[in-house]
Amino acid sequence: MSFETQKNEIIKICKKLFKEEGTKVIIGFAQSEVEGITTPLFMRTAEDAEKLKWDSQCTPNLAKYLLEKRGKVGIVAKTCDARAIVMYLVEQQIKRDELYIIGVECPGMKNNDATASCGCEACKMRIPPIYDVLVKYNAEITLPDSEEASNTVAIEDNLKKFQDEMKKCILCYSCRQVCYGCYCKSCFVDMNVPNWLPGEISEGAKMIFHLGRAMHLAGRCVECGACERVCPSGVNIRYLIKEITKFTKELYAYEAGIDPEETPALAVFNPNDSEAAMSGSEVQ
Ligand code: SF4
Ligand code: SF4
Ligand code: SF4
Repeated sequence: MSFETQKNEIIKICKKLFKEEGTKVIIGFAQSEVEGITTPLFMRTAEDAEKLKWDSQCTPNLAKYLLEKRGKVGIVAKTCDARAIVMYLVEQQIKRDELYIIGVECPGMKNNDATASCGCEACKMRIPPIYDVLVKYNAEITLPDSEEASNTVAIEDNLKKFQDEMKKCILCYSCRQVCYGCYCKSCFVDMNVPNWLPGEISEGAKMIFHLGRAMHLAGRCVECGACERVCPSGVNIRYLIKEITKFTKELYAYEAGIDPEETPALAVFNPNDSEAAMSGSEVQ
């Protein structure tokens, strides 16, 4: 199979859902008017399904649109979309019985220059962790052969690296808007009482936003890469969240967005917890 045959299979499933199941809307991918850019597609009829796009540029994570929908919804989900869906189920933001998931085996998304898209460079999970029907790729998929090169730095250089990235940030909050995990009705940075952020775009304001957001994503990031992909200033700040993800995996053996039955690591109270996260002690 290939992207094209997978696409035809997805279209067939969508048409069947409209005709036989009375599905009102299915969320998928569409080509935008700008070459190389993919947008969400909200299909409402079998004819709409013909507009579906499925190729190596379907990078957007569609899961966040589920928060806006009521009633039975279908969604085309590659692995990282499906991981975000799992988290919404775990966090009780959506109902499983109102959802039909067309899982798509993902061979990895690409940038326009054919390099791996942000988030795909180290992703080895090809099959979505949750689906109602699976559309397989059925051809050889080359997995990244090693762990992603760590872009962390020696501890004494940490502050400098962080400050260098912060210089580029214009506090546009696109990274927050696109992230599946940032769905708070009132984000802490938008509050007046208490007022967490100074009014100006200062280094302090940027630090508060990014460190605060990193903590809110602790153990919740599904590694979709959307935050860095949309940043208009090329800020590479995902390394902060990645370090916390690594820590959560090592300390609590928890990986976000894999098992809808598993309670997130930071939502569990265990009296025997070594509390390494609090005390700064070594992970045992
Ligand atoms: S923090 Fe970035 S990589 Fe992680 S889930 Fe949010 S958008 Fe995706
Ligand atoms: S940064 Fe924190 S408070 Fe703001 S939307 Fe994201 S999770 Fe919510
Ligand atoms: S990191 Fe990028 S996307 Fe996020 S607030 Fe700063 S400039 Fe905007």
